[in-house]
Amino acid sequence: MSRGKKMRAIVKTKPEIGAEYLEVDVPVVGAGEVLVKVRVCAICGTDIHIYQWNNWAAANVPRAYGGLPRIMGHEFCGDVVEVGPDVTKVKPGDRIAAETHIPCGQCFLCRIGKQFNCQNVRRFKNGVFAEYALIPEFSAEKIPNDIPYEVAALFEPFGVAVHGASHVRMVGDTVSVIGVGPIGLFCIVMAKIMGASTIFASDISDYRLSLAKIAGVDYILNPNKEDVVSKVKGLTEGLGVGVVFETSGNVRGAKQGFEMLRKSGSCVMIGLPSEPLVLDAGSDIVWKGANVYGIHGRDNFTTWEIAKNLLAKNKIDLKNFITHRFKFEHFKKAFDLCQIGETGKVILFPD
Ligand SMILES: [Zn+2]
Ligand SMILES: [Zn+2]
Repeated sequence: MSRGKKMRAIVKTKPEIGAEYLEVDVPVVGAGEVLVKVRVCAICGTDIHIYQWNNWAAANVPRAYGGLPRIMGHEFCGDVVEVGPDVTKVKPGDRIAAETHIPCGQCFLCRIGKQFNCQNVRRFKNGVFAEYALIPEFSAEKIPNDIPYEVAALFEPFGVAVHGASHVRMVGDTVSVIGVGPIGLFCIVMAKIMGASTIFASDISDYRLSLAKIAGVDYILNPNKEDVVSKVKGLTEGLGVGVVFETSGNVRGAKQGFEMLRKSGSCVMIGLPSEPLVLDAGSDIVWKGANVYGIHGRDNFTTWEIAKNLLAKNKIDLKNFITHRFKFEHFKKAFDLCQIGETGKVILFPD
């Protein structure tokens, strides 16, 4: 059905900053594949790296994503329009969001129930910032009808926060979130509903700290303006916090996270450090008896079920964290804004 049709897409064509809005072929649906009419996309941190074509993108995109040209983007939702002959999980007309990490199902980690950490994890064949997206059946996750498209597009990044939060006990405890970009904001949301007694948020952007305030933190801290470690210790009777979410990917921020962590506390590390992180492992981890969790992606599909229940039952509302909306054709404005960092989640629509 899709053969010979054309669509518009945001394509990364060259290994340099930028992307192009081009006419390309609508993908042809093969066995085990699902074609989706894209309704809403969201810009992820990795999209910004790829747009800028920084060192991380140059080192990782050719290997993990199969080189250029490539349609950008992975976070999205839409309506199924066509399925391969053997597909049973979804049908045309279903509203779906998508899991973006595709496990092999056969490696050691997949076999011991840790699909989310698959040794041979794959990504979509091509990106989703386009009128149509082709994804494997595995990735298509049906979305309840009462969840709006723009919230459904946030399932994938929100699931990362759900995954991180599932490792720690927050009820009646103190929590600090380092870096309040979208994932940090989602961690605050989880800390709130999981009963944290006091929540601190630290970021160098006052704009993002204002979003943390909306998310319901008790204290906002800017490490460029104050000593955040002594501030947190002062407000926790010298103990430090029971749980730290490190979502900044900034080595100074991560170090501060470990320093403000209480003895026997847990540090959930989600941000990718921009350079090697130097810790004093004795005082930061060993003598503290600290627990450290590395979180990469979602815990499939537990986190999807939890997220669906929270969103569909209106236990939480993610709409407050969508700060900017752009049509595909204005994608350059969207990326310029993301690079400054004065945003929550930025979403894109087909024209
Ligand atoms: Zn993402
Ligand atoms: Zn595997």
